[in-house]
Amino acid sequence: MLRLTDIQLPLDHTDADLKEAILARLKISAEDLISFTIFKRSYDARKKTAILLIYTIDAEVADDEALLHKLKSIQGQNKITKTPDTSYKFVTHAKEGNYPRPVVVGFGPCGLFAALILAQMGFKPIVLERGKAVRERTKDTWGLWRKRELNPESNVQFGEGGAGTFSDGKLYSQIKDPKHYGRKVLTEFVKAGAPEEIMYVSKPHIGTFRLVKMIEEMRANIIELGGEIRFEQKVTDFDIKNGEIYGLTTNDHEKIQTDHVVLAVGHSARDTFELVHAKGIYVEAKPFSIGFRIEHPQSIIDKARFGPNAGNKILGAADYKLVHHAKNDRSVYSFCMCPGGTVVAATSEPGRVVTNGMSQYSRNERNANSAIVVGISPEIDYPGNPLAGIALQRELERKAFLLGGSTYNAPGQLIGDFLANRPSTELGSVIPSYKPGITLCNLADALPAFAIEAMREAIPEFDKQIKGFSLNDAILTGVETRTSSPIRIKRKDDDLQSLNTKGLYPAGEGAGYAGGILSAAIDGIKVAEALALNLEKKYA
Ligand code: FAD
Repeated sequence: MLRLTDIQLPLDHTDADLKEAILARLKISAEDLISFTIFKRSYDARKKTAILLIYTIDAEVADDEALLHKLKSIQGQNKITKTPDTSYKFVTHAKEGNYPRPVVVGFGPCGLFAALILAQMGFKPIVLERGKAVRERTKDTWGLWRKRELNPESNVQFGEGGAGTFSDGKLYSQIKDPKHYGRKVLTEFVKAGAPEEIMYVSKPHIGTFRLVKMIEEMRANIIELGGEIRFEQKVTDFDIKNGEIYGLTTNDHEKIQTDHVVLAVGHSARDTFELVHAKGIYVEAKPFSIGFRIEHPQSIIDKARFGPNAGNKILGAADYKLVHHAKNDRSVYSFCMCPGGTVVAATSEPGRVVTNGMSQYSRNERNANSAIVVGISPEIDYPGNPLAGIALQRELERKAFLLGGSTYNAPGQLIGDFLANRPSTELGSVIPSYKPGITLCNLADALPAFAIEAMREAIPEFDKQIKGFSLNDAILTGVETRTSSPIRIKRKDDDLQSLNTKGLYPAGEGAGYAGGILSAAIDGIKVAEALALNLEKKYA
């Protein structure tokens, strides 16, 4: 198999054009091309009137070595190589005999993949998840959005599938992935029902409804392989002696003996973070970001990004990524952009308001949304206690609850009013999507002055890149406080165990080792491998 990179074709090209381009690159005739698959497809929209699709192709020919050799001798044919092997290789398999069962705490993307890989290797994990199975959890999540009723143990953050279940389902990440774990994740998702295209489009996404079904499928797979998933089992204590974990307590009374634990509790498990700290497990504060969600008509974003090609089916709803370094030394950036989606209520604690975004696979809702956030750091903004970032999050989320009228409405403001520092009193042309609703106010009261100042500077700058970004009627809702974990449960680089607690594998977003579905899933794989190797060393 040969890999051909950087094949550029116009947006409206045909299948025949693609095949022609492959033959031309390989300098062979149609009979010599056995088959081909698309490894990656991205686009270059710098020239809006002539947007290009860019392909990486894997082509099967009769004698690839000979052809490669021949092509290499022709000048300029440096965009053809042997297709690398990106298939996943297990680091080990459980041998015959009795291993103590490893426990995975949390069934978000990280815990899901840790459990799946352990199960595929034959190590029969037990998963403990504080929330409910995904169908029941969906009802509870809608309870807040429709009836203003929050279940603190079953909501948008907690329950089967983790925080990413009700999301845009974006499946890309900028992390380095030399072992191609990302492809293992995507392959498992496709097996569980994700569209095939996630394997090759440059910015794959799944959307909420499909994710729900896929998670059920993957749960069934883990159980079939001998794993066990226990819902409504919150870990409330760790048994640690001489710097080694030997057990856990769930729901304050049930004991489980185990000396291998993956801790993948996500960034909202504040009570668990407090427990981790109280038990003396090494934890430190880390930077995160605070800000608001912004909503525009999707058509504005499509037009700004794709010009006359706005609405093209292959391109889909347009996204953006924006950064501005403000004069007060703060960085403002867009985060978790959801094209054609909705803003969602994402609190897991009563009396607090947090925003986030989600979409369906079709991404055909009227508005685009993203978080516009300002980076903050423990050294400057919440020094001292490693958990001080959590206290700051809680304070801001409480303020947002009060500004919203103490009804789980989110406080909101029109961009024009935000920039002019006057409270909004009525909506304009953009209808906010946040449920259960928004309360118009002056959002300047919701965040520290430096953050408001930096955002007021950044939004008009963003308008220079996305025309219409500072549209008067665009809507801000707040607050965004959970862009990533406020802490890191530090682990060793070599065996991925906690810095001071043997047998404990802090993992995923909550432990500060991932940000997003794909990177959390990849971290789950890494930790499963490290745990399996250690289990073998200790017991085989
Ligand atoms: P989580 O997904 O948070 O999972 C942790 C799990 O642990 C939870 O199910 C929780 O109930 C459980 N848990 C916590 N404490 C305990 C305990 N003590 N005992 C037992 N169980 C416990 N990322 C993207 O890449 N793309 C997106 O489009 C995207 N959209 C998002 C939209 C929304 C609304 C939200 C909230 C997040 C979104 N994210 C998105 C972020 C993404 O969901 C997270 O980065 C990812 O889920 C982190 O995975 P994780 O497994 O580390 O943690």
